[in-house]
Amino acid sequence: MGVVDQASTWLDRHWDPEMPLGEWWELLAESGCGYPSWPADRYGLGASVHEARAIVARRMSCGILGPPTGVGAYLGAPTLLAHGTTDQIDRFLPGIAKGTETWTQLFSEPGSGSDLASLATRADRDGDQFIINGQKVWSSGAQYADLAILLARTDFDQPKHRGISFFVIDMRQEGVEVRPLTEMTGGQTFNEVFLTDAAVPAENLVGGLNQGWRVTMTTLSHERDSDNAAAGVGGGVFYGRPDLADSCAAYMAPRRTEQLDGVELWMDPAAPEMPARMAKAFGRTGDAIARQDLMRIHILREVMRLNGLRAEARRAQGHEPGPESSTGKLLTSELGRMIRDVGLAMEGPYGQLLGDDAPEQGVLQVYGLFIPAMSIAGGTDEVQRNVLAERVLGLPREPDLSRDVPYRQLQVGTQRER
Ligand SMILES: Cc1cc2nc3c(=O)[nH]c(=O)nc-3n(C[C@H](O)[C@H](O)[C@H](O)COP(=O)(O)OP(=O)(O)OC[C@H]3O[C@@H](n4cnc5c(N)ncnc54)[C@H](O)[C@@H]3O)c2cc1C
Repeated sequence: MGVVDQASTWLDRHWDPEMPLGEWWELLAESGCGYPSWPADRYGLGASVHEARAIVARRMSCGILGPPTGVGAYLGAPTLLAHGTTDQIDRFLPGIAKGTETWTQLFSEPGSGSDLASLATRADRDGDQFIINGQKVWSSGAQYADLAILLARTDFDQPKHRGISFFVIDMRQEGVEVRPLTEMTGGQTFNEVFLTDAAVPAENLVGGLNQGWRVTMTTLSHERDSDNAAAGVGGGVFYGRPDLADSCAAYMAPRRTEQLDGVELWMDPAAPEMPARMAKAFGRTGDAIARQDLMRIHILREVMRLNGLRAEARRAQGHEPGPESSTGKLLTSELGRMIRDVGLAMEGPYGQLLGDDAPEQGVLQVYGLFIPAMSIAGGTDEVQRNVLAERVLGLPREPDLSRDVPYRQLQVGTQRER
């Protein structure tokens, strides 16, 4: 029996919507069917991306709840699998796979987003630990997080890319203060995080001292990889906590739009169907312009599918995600905007309403308010275009006079203003 059939049989046999959520995630993790592309001895089945995609599709078509998602599964796990020590993988993977520990990403700072390597948060060695001081921002889900992947500067005399280290930090400590930020959706997806003498044990340094940029490239390539979900991750709800639901069915029950955040809607595989559904609901399916717009969405999705296959072929040859992940990220932003614009046009004047007054309790409106974020998160559209220009089209590299200058001599990040 092939791995796809094996996983499908297991899922059919074990899925029980009345099972407590934590129990289901534990069982799913131990079976390897939750993250099929992870190694067989590490909560996966060692499946190829193609096989993993088939298993995930099969699971979703049967309405079976997937494993926990979020920063731990999307970014922490693949980064640790690529650069972590055996001890680090042993320590952190179980909590990610079973959803017992929630993660956030502490990369961006008030003065360092696109130019991430200019970050100023510092990590000073003190015996068998590092002491962290600085400020992060845009930290999605930090208010729920137990752990974080953290970038901090460990050598100020090296040029900016060469003095950064990558850590796993415990968020539940005194030196970590999380302040949620309210978005225009009304929700609070991200936060400011203030680090004041926060401690990280030296064994949580990932990939070696001052090797953080190399490790970060792995993390970012996974973040920009819109096909990530197909590799076996997606399914469970963002920032899931198994202790929050007695049964899987309760956890999966539809929620009111005020309780949803835009990320959840954006990650919903059914989101691209919204405009066609609205066209039917508002009697627009015979309208030539409406049909053309729906076709444009279909074509873009098809292009994304083909781009995903290209990424898959690359991975099948044992490579990390490459520049095609930047193409995928750009297309994802574009598709989001199209779904919003076409969907709201189908609703006509009703598109202006919110909440219970709006069609489908305003699900498209919440989605639409969130969509601009997708052109920024994980590297802006402009930055993705720079990557494509340089790595695919072979255009000259963007000038960066600060690249070879010791960090200490730079006016970077928030220091730019001084
Ligand atoms: C929904 C959301 C979730 C996020 N979650 C996280 C998270 O969990 N953890 C985390 O660490 N970060 C997170 N981020 C932060 C995100 O990675 C940064 O916002 C992003 O990298 C841009 O950085 P910035 O906001 O500092 O903008 P800036 O870098 O200041 O950019 C401002 C503008 O200048 C343009 N620009 C900058 N440099 C160039 C260039 N070289 N060429 C052309 N144009 C340029 C940009 O495209 C942009 O339009 C999140 C952001 C969003 C929107």
